[in-house]
Amino acid sequence: MKAISCKLLVIGAGPGGYVCATRAGQRGIDTVIVEAKKPGGTCLNIGCIPSKALIHAADEYHKVAQFAADDSPLGIHASAPRIDLAKTMVWKDEIVGRLNGDVAGLLKHAAVKVVEGWARFRDGKTVEVETETGLQVIHAEQVVIATGSRPVELAALPFGGRVISSTEALALRQVPRRMVVVGAGYIGLELGTAFAKMEAHVTIVEALPRILPQYDTALTRPVEMRLRQLGVDILTGAKATGLTAAGDGLKIETSDGQSKVLAADNILVAVGRTPFTAGWGLEAIDLDLDGPFLRIDERCRTSMRGIYAIGDVTGEPMLAHRASAQGEMVARIIAGEKRSWDSMCIPTICFTDPEIVVAGLLPEAAKATGIDIRIGMSPFQANGRALTLDQDAGFIRVVARADNHLILGIQGVGAGIAELSATFSTAIEMGARLEDITAIIHAHPTQSETMKEAARSALNHSLDPSRQNRLSQIHPQSTQ
Ligand code: FAD
Ligand code: NAD
Repeated sequence: MKAISCKLLVIGAGPGGYVCATRAGQRGIDTVIVEAKKPGGTCLNIGCIPSKALIHAADEYHKVAQFAADDSPLGIHASAPRIDLAKTMVWKDEIVGRLNGDVAGLLKHAAVKVVEGWARFRDGKTVEVETETGLQVIHAEQVVIATGSRPVELAALPFGGRVISSTEALALRQVPRRMVVVGAGYIGLELGTAFAKMEAHVTIVEALPRILPQYDTALTRPVEMRLRQLGVDILTGAKATGLTAAGDGLKIETSDGQSKVLAADNILVAVGRTPFTAGWGLEAIDLDLDGPFLRIDERCRTSMRGIYAIGDVTGEPMLAHRASAQGEMVARIIAGEKRSWDSMCIPTICFTDPEIVVAGLLPEAAKATGIDIRIGMSPFQANGRALTLDQDAGFIRVVARADNHLILGIQGVGAGIAELSATFSTAIEMGARLEDITAIIHAHPTQSETMKEAARSALNHSLDPSRQNRLSQIHPQSTQ
């Protein structure tokens, strides 16, 4: 097969790689992208999109099931609903398929050449790809590594049979009767909640003392309460030690040193993801590492000139929007623009029930900088729109500098709050002060009014100071 020469070669067509290649192609850069599986990477095929589709289907089913159980305060009645998970998966796969086509279309319109197969470095400027029709050699002036990540496998609990990763969980054709989830992070809680809403009996086993340990308890408490309301058993400070001899249960060790067995039809192991750094010839180019990740600088340059790296392979947070933002930046740099990473915040969302959004600094992280801060908080219980949605759990919290009121962080937990994440990060990226937020007219009735109330509370200008006083007793962080 004739060798290809190009200006830019991108390895991996996930949200990092395909955005980088498309942007480069649109700027007239002669670009090739190599993908071993399907366009869209983890996010589109086995991550963000399929998980959110499943979460939505589970929410819809659960809502109707509640109406059928006759405990709806809204006065709605329904007869016994049923979920056909195989059909749900067909719907989910159609969404994925449509988006695969959209990504392929983007690359085509940007005149990016797509090579299907597994890429491996021969040297810093040459990559060979095992394609269906033979070995394709590609010479490139610049290379972007966007190989992503894969699930962490526990030595005591290798994947196979009942032990599954998120990929298999997102392809189940039947709701398991009993599901044990190992790891109370993003995946464990998002998928654990979805399966609980589809009436699996879910038990969550988390090694640390709390669920979602990266967030403070004020943010995670409403999620934990909801999980318990859904009948989910949460075992914190507990470790999975292996399968039973018959393979039908998970052996665990609890925080008080006791051994237990949890019977399970499926054991979803969701204990983190690890960067994809093996099998593509890292040894041939000997790039510097930063722990398990490829080391990059503020321009996503690796330790070898002409080789960039973006996305999950470069470190935390392993999120699709970080990968895409890096990809876009690198395409601009290769096109000759002067660019470097200067984002103030990468918002994170946990699509639990209720959802958690974190943008900028959490109170503890803000305090750790040594700056004096003030914190304002407003509960959804005081928000008309939340009450009309019958979803009043949670709050929005604003963290600001005490001296000039510059907003350092905005976080919240509440139903549908994911859609406010861009408002939170816009305020931070644009250098808003508390007074800027309180001066903006927020449409009524919307959940976004809670953000304005949180900013007011940070300024001690709450519309209802008595509520504020009560709140500060419940959430001590809300006092300045
Ligand atoms: P990836 O998307 O992993 O893409 C890498 C691509 O490179 C893959 O397609 C792979 O096949 C290909 N590849 C690797 N090596 C080679 C090679 N040698 N040759 C050819 N091709 C190769 N993030 C969010 O922001 N929001 C969410 O809601 C969210 N939900 C998630 C839910 C789940 C269940 C999972 C697993 C992840 C979720 N994520 C979410 C994380 C998100 O999917 C990743 O952060 C994102 O996909 C990383 O993008 P990437 O481009 O770095 O890599
Ligand atoms: P995670 O890092 O979010 O959570 C892993 C959890 O497993 C942690 O709480 C950890 O303490 C626990 N754990 C580790 N080893 C354990 C053990 N032996 N026994 C019991 N518990 C153990 O990882 P994840 O949930 O697998 O998700 C991986 C990554 O995927 C996330 O970090 C995130 O970057 C991405 N993701 C993002 C979203 C989103 O943005 N909504 C959704 C899903 C995944």
